[in-house]
Amino acid sequence: MTIEMHAHSKSGSKCSNISMDSLISKYKELGVDTVCITERDVFPDPEEIQSISQKYQIKIFPGIEWSLEGGHF
Ligand SMILES: [Zn+2]
Repeated sequence: MTIEMHAHSKSGSKCSNISMDSLISKYKELGVDTVCITERDVFPDPEEIQSISQKYQIKIFPGIEWSLEGGHF
């Protein structure tokens, strides 16, 4: 089993320039089983997650990367 634990898409992260659909498509091509979408300071859209998860038959877990004064967690 292969899991990506930290990925951003332009759907919720200004630092990313790839759509969630294209991002998950690439991970699927690479054989990744599960992707954690950790958008910056915003929770990923659950409907977009569900739709793309079904489209590519890949597990997607939503998450948030919080920005703080000293960095991110
Ligand atoms: Zn990050």
